[in-house]
Amino acid sequence: MKFNTKTIHGGQNHEEATGAVMPPIFQTSTYAQTSPGVNKGYEYSRGANPTRTALENSFAAIENGTHGFAFSSGLSAIDCVLRTLNPGDEVIAGDDLYGGTYRMFTRLFKKYGLEFTFVNMDVVANVTDAITAKTKLIWLETPTNPLMKIADIAVISSTVKAVDSAILIAVDNTFATPYLQQPLDLGADIVMHSATKYLGGHSDLVMGALMVKDAKLAEELHFIQFAAGAIAGPMDSFLALRGIKTLHIRMQRHCENGRAVAHFLNKHPKVGAVYYPGLENHPNHEIAKKQMRDFGGMVSFRLKDESRAAAFKFLENTHVFTLAESLGGVESLVNHPTTMTHASIPEPERLKIGITDSLIRLSVGIEDIEDLLADLEHALHQ
Ligand SMILES: *Cc1c(COP(=O)(O)O)cnc(C)c1O
Repeated sequence: MKFNTKTIHGGQNHEEATGAVMPPIFQTSTYAQTSPGVNKGYEYSRGANPTRTALENSFAAIENGTHGFAFSSGLSAIDCVLRTLNPGDEVIAGDDLYGGTYRMFTRLFKKYGLEFTFVNMDVVANVTDAITAKTKLIWLETPTNPLMKIADIAVISSTVKAVDSAILIAVDNTFATPYLQQPLDLGADIVMHSATKYLGGHSDLVMGALMVKDAKLAEELHFIQFAAGAIAGPMDSFLALRGIKTLHIRMQRHCENGRAVAHFLNKHPKVGAVYYPGLENHPNHEIAKKQMRDFGGMVSFRLKDESRAAAFKFLENTHVFTLAESLGGVESLVNHPTTMTHASIPEPERLKIGITDSLIRLSVGIEDIEDLLADLEHALHQ
């Protein structure tokens, strides 16, 4: 099957009892047994639930994996990956990460004896130079949040594996989605999503996903999902399945609108810099062109007036773009990383990588582009 067909049919069978075309919501915690241990494959919904199974099969299909796992949030999916490690193990991660990922690494897992090194991953040598005998995991996000840097997944994977084939490569594919890039095909071992964002696509649930292509790794992750218990519920699994069925057409419009917004801002006299991998002046544009089918709907930019007051004036004056955390829904959102999504990163770290008061992040939705551009124009002139 090709990608668009997979979003609708991947891993999906009609429900057995009734032939229901859409996977029903199995809102049950437990399942009848005819004799102890004799059941129809389901015992207790922390272990497995048919609605979640349908979603997990869809997750595996859209990322070209063999196994998928659905969690109660994106962060609990990341937590599951880190629990495969042991005290003393080292993780190399990108230096421009989702704020919550950074917080989990530095404030939760550090105290259990894991070590983290943060490097700028758009230079591959930074990653290989940081590898030691204790390195067990590379954690990369591309495009990064919020600065839209691009890391070369194929080159990083092959270079790291050449140094030590046991090091796992995990990619947070939330921003790109499998519509734009499929990291397992590029050499990564684990794909992670905040399904809260584009996979769900309608800002109506919080969920995480992991996808892998190795049976042994899948078994390990499934054990942790079951033993730690951060599973997605049946209703949310149903909503995510419904969202995924339109992922490809939503992404087409997100990309179209994202490109138009990036070009509009790039020419605007009040705008200082635009961060969008589809722009030819983006430092990683060539890698993005090679790695991604298109460039997505996330656009960050900086006002020429670098004061916090100027940024706040803009943020308070959009009407179609809603000022809110999160991204990837059908509706357009605007966000101030410094005070919102990335407030958990200590100020010196933030300033070092360029997350300053003037930086604004847009999640460009699938509304009419004329309304989006008029809204930005209006807010820029306040
Ligand atoms: C939102 C987000 C997360 C965290 O996911 P939750 O569903 O909010 O727990 C992780 N990575 C990226 C890139 C995100 O945007």
